[in-house]
Amino acid sequence: MQQQNILNSYISEVFLSIQGEGKYVGARQLFIRFSGCGVNCNGCDTDYNRKESFEFLGKKFFNPVDIKELSTFIKSSNILKEIHSISFTGGEPLLNDHSIEFIIDFLGDSTKYFLETNGFYLDRLEKIYKKLDIVSIDIKLNSTFDIRSNVEDLKNANFIEHKKSYFKLVIDKNINHDEIKSVIEMLKIKKFYEIYLHFKNNLIEFNLLDAIMKIFYSNSINVYYVPQTHKLMGFR
Ligand code: SF4
Repeated sequence: MQQQNILNSYISEVFLSIQGEGKYVGARQLFIRFSGCGVNCNGCDTDYNRKESFEFLGKKFFNPVDIKELSTFIKSSNILKEIHSISFTGGEPLLNDHSIEFIIDFLGDSTKYFLETNGFYLDRLEKIYKKLDIVSIDIKLNSTFDIRSNVEDLKNANFIEHKKSYFKLVIDKNINHDEIKSVIEMLKIKKFYEIYLHFKNNLIEFNLLDAIMKIFYSNSINVYYVPQTHKLMGFR
């Protein structure tokens, strides 16, 4: 796991684009992609490796990035009124929870704050949860990524509220009935009655999707299939 200093973080890229997944698909956001993850998903397609530098709106930033310098630049660039929200993404952004907190405190109510997390660093999420406006939480299944599932952890995370959070589930053809059952049980315990479903790499199998959707709906959970639109459209 990467080390961090309070006001310095390794950032892979900062860019303006359109949200391609989950409930807010289509929203124009400022993405801050932190380096590092701490989970080793089989088939991860995100480039969250450390880079020497990156460019944003014509300015070059060198890693580890001075978070105050980045926040000041974002504030002065005048882009906050042209976006839906700032998306903290990764990798796993919660490995840099102090930097996220600093950015939110620095920029204040000039925009909304959106976090995309893999759902494994729940203690860190709890610490900054109140400051965030929207939290997209991945449900990770062993069958899809060959890692430990986080469904049991999520069951016990009582601070997660429906009004600001939603769950995203990426599946592939290896999903099994017990996993679906455990996800439904977790959602019911938390009183969440909707979920956003993606197929890994957009390799959709319609009959499987249809069967899974039927199971969710028959358990009173609204499930929405969303293709990973940024991949379809060639966005970042
Ligand atoms: S949690 Fe996300 S970024 Fe991390 S390895 Fe898995 S797919 Fe990649």
